[in-house]
Amino acid sequence: MKRILVTGGAGFIGSHLCENLLNEGNEVISLDNYFTGDKSNIVDFVQNPYFEAVRHDITHPYFAEVDEIYNLACPASPVHYQHNPIKTIKTSVMGAINLLGLAKRIDAKIMQASTSEVYGDPLVHPQKESYWGNVNPIGTRSCYDEGKRCAESLFFNYNRQNSVKVKVIRIFNTYGPRMDPNDGRVVSNFIVQALKNEPITIFGDGKQTRSFQYIDDLIVGMKRMMGTDNSVIGPVNMGNPHEFSMLELADMIIEITNSKSKLTFKPLPDDDPIQRQPDISKAKELLNNWEPKTNVKTGLKKTVAYFDNLLSKERL
Ligand code: NAD
Ligand code: UDP
Repeated sequence: MKRILVTGGAGFIGSHLCENLLNEGNEVISLDNYFTGDKSNIVDFVQNPYFEAVRHDITHPYFAEVDEIYNLACPASPVHYQHNPIKTIKTSVMGAINLLGLAKRIDAKIMQASTSEVYGDPLVHPQKESYWGNVNPIGTRSCYDEGKRCAESLFFNYNRQNSVKVKVIRIFNTYGPRMDPNDGRVVSNFIVQALKNEPITIFGDGKQTRSFQYIDDLIVGMKRMMGTDNSVIGPVNMGNPHEFSMLELADMIIEITNSKSKLTFKPLPDDDPIQRQPDISKAKELLNNWEPKTNVKTGLKKTVAYFDNLLSKERL
């Protein structure tokens, strides 16, 4: 049994990670300020005596004796991370400094949840970890992109300068149950709109592409990465290479939900990347052939079931 700290433990990815680590018999501490996370995400295991939910903002130092730290705390959807961009940068940068300082002091392994956004609007396709990216440093997405890039730099420098045992993963668009229905991300927006038979909002012409991985596949990858020896630092891409356009995504969701929704077109947000697809050869090589196993229709059906249940409770 290990004692594991998960920052952002009440968020979408964090809550799945906490649940999985508890099910494997670990002791888990979740740190969260509940900015975008919700206690309803952890309600199923909050009574577990091996789980501790601590309200804490990672821009302030925290101390606990743990074996491993997963740093996931950061708003992740454009709507939320642009709501208070200065706070977003503080969370990424000061949060990383505080947690790396903790890892150094207690000699814990620490993993950073970085993002495909470090590649910006990529000029290389698909994206390999060796690509340095195409980020607008002053644009509206830069609070998130540059915050995460600075956090990666901090992780690598704590490793070089202080021998801290770090791991960096770059997560590509992930979806599944417990996504926030109001955070503006495309999968949750389209599913909720389709279930309500409301117009589906396509930004731009809908030909921009993304590659979506189902949450369970990501959790397997994260744990394998944490389990690697100290020589494996990353960065390692984690995502599903199956790429499709937002128009194709809307069609799939309309079909699965049997919806009467029509498409409606809205302006494309600033600096919205045109194309995105991970090259996951490094993850396969380093993480015992890790690759996503859930096909998109299966994952979408499970996500639709989650939102359907949520909406039917709201209707009561
Ligand atoms: P989320 O918004 O559901 O979860 C983030 C959690 O962090 C929330 O519970 C929030 O309340 C908490 N938080 C935010 N600021 C905090 C602070 N200052 N102190 C303490 N807690 C704070 O988002 P998510 O999708 O679960 O993303 C988790 C991590 O994974 C983020 O770091 C995100 O950048 C990264 N990521 C996610 C995706 C994705 O597609 N979901 C893709 C790439 C990277
Ligand atoms: N998008 C869309 N309609 C929506 C929400 C998003 O067409 O209601 C588009 C958005 O412009 C982007 C893609 O879907 O091109 C993915 O958006 P999301 O915010 O989910 O993720 P990110 O842009 O961070 O990859």
